Amino acid sequence: MSDLYELGQKPPLGEVPARMHAYAVRQNRFGQPKDAWQREILPTPPIKSDEVLIYVMASGINFNNVWAALGQPLDVIGERQKMGEPEDFHAGGSDCSGIVWAVGDDVKNVKVGDDVIVHSGWWRADDPWVRAGKDPMLAESTRIWGYQTNYGSYCQFARAQGHQCIRKPARLTWEEAGCFLLCASTAYRMLMGWAPNVIEKGDPILVWGAAGGLGSMALEITRAEGGRAIAVVSDDSKKDFCMKHGAVGVINRKTFTHWGTMPDTRDAKAYGEWAKGARAFGKAVWDALGEKSNPRIVFEHPGEATLPTSEFVCSTGGMIVICAGTTGYNVTLDLRYHWMRQKRFQGSHLSNDDQAAAVTKLVADGKIDPCLSKTYNFDDIPLCHQLMLDNQHPSGNMGVLVNATRAGEGRSDG
Ligand code: NAP
Repeated sequence: MSDLYELGQKPPLGEVPARMHAYAVRQNRFGQPKDAWQREILPTPPIKSDEVLIYVMASGINFNNVWAALGQPLDVIGERQKMGEPEDFHAGGSDCSGIVWAVGDDVKNVKVGDDVIVHSGWWRADDPWVRAGKDPMLAESTRIWGYQTNYGSYCQFARAQGHQCIRKPARLTWEEAGCFLLCASTAYRMLMGWAPNVIEKGDPILVWGAAGGLGSMALEITRAEGGRAIAVVSDDSKKDFCMKHGAVGVINRKTFTHWGTMPDTRDAKAYGEWAKGARAFGKAVWDALGEKSNPRIVFEHPGEATLPTSEFVCSTGGMIVICAGTTGYNVTLDLRYHWMRQKRFQGSHLSNDDQAAAVTKLVADGKIDPCLSKTYNFDDIPLCHQLMLDNQHPSGNMGVLVNATRAGEGRSDG
């Protein structure tokens, strides 16, 4: 028995080597992702009774590990150390396809040898909120796996909780299966998890960053649920991608200039200028849709730059649902539109087991494309995060081979 295997070299099923290859960040190299993420050899982690160890075949790339590399807005290593975890590194990765390699005594839903994908909702089984059967995403102990927890999918062997595992859709390759679930499950909760503001047949849905990881999943989910997505992008070259993945129309945000924090509503000139921009954007939404209807749901994540416009264009009784503030956290909105038109501003974060399973079923049934953009190699992990930070990444979700040695493998549907 060797204590370290090369990537792609499989130990006998169930045999766990003492060490493994991984990409990790350390506090002394927080900064640009291309330098912060470095390949290391780390000890393979032990598992607890409710955990599994997964031989990772492929991973996806997510913005959370751009933030982890920057050390902003959270130092994930320091946060974990405060909670008693000794490791002085962050071996991340929040999207995973792979083979279950070891299971804790209490894990009943998967067994060694199963092909799985992993959703990234992590919570303590003994959390009183979870034990009470309430939505675990609202529990105090909830963390994002592979961001706020260690030993994610940029490891040869990842550690997860048993409940995070979902059967891998047979029709997908390892990299297709490993690239989409964090964004898909987040988008699903945003669009289908906040009744009564869920997609209904024909609903116009405005999707910011529509060619990105979240946005592409929002387009696909909207189409699958019968809505009509209006996509926003920054470059005409992304239009075809959006139409292919379900948009009914596309807006290029670069043709507008009214972005950012709103002017003082008492400054008539500045406010008038801003309102002109917001109204023009609203007209662009109608043009893209082909009728004068406002979005029933606005799918938000840029935050500071776009929220005033999201508030303005959202329909009466509609919802702006937001899961990030990529452009800044200090959001402004004109409250008059909010209360008079009885709009909802809803925060949303990742998903629970049921929502992750529901969106995976849509993928497994061929109703949603996982939008794999490009397949990268293990040693491209730093580059992929840098491309994402620089908004230069290809449209959709990037996939990374970990133990899979070639792209295109892993389908099991004959
Ligand atoms: P992504 O693939 O980089 O997509 C984000 C898109 O935002 C980009 O494609 C870009 O598209 C657009 N964008 C960039 N600057 C913008 C601006 N100033 N105004 C409007 N749009 C802008 O990233 P992602 O995976 O979709 O993630 C987006 C954000 O959501 C990140 O902050 C991530 O951490 C967060 N997130 C949160 C959760 C959660 O559970 N809370 C889950 C997933 C992701 P264009 O340049 O074409 O407009």
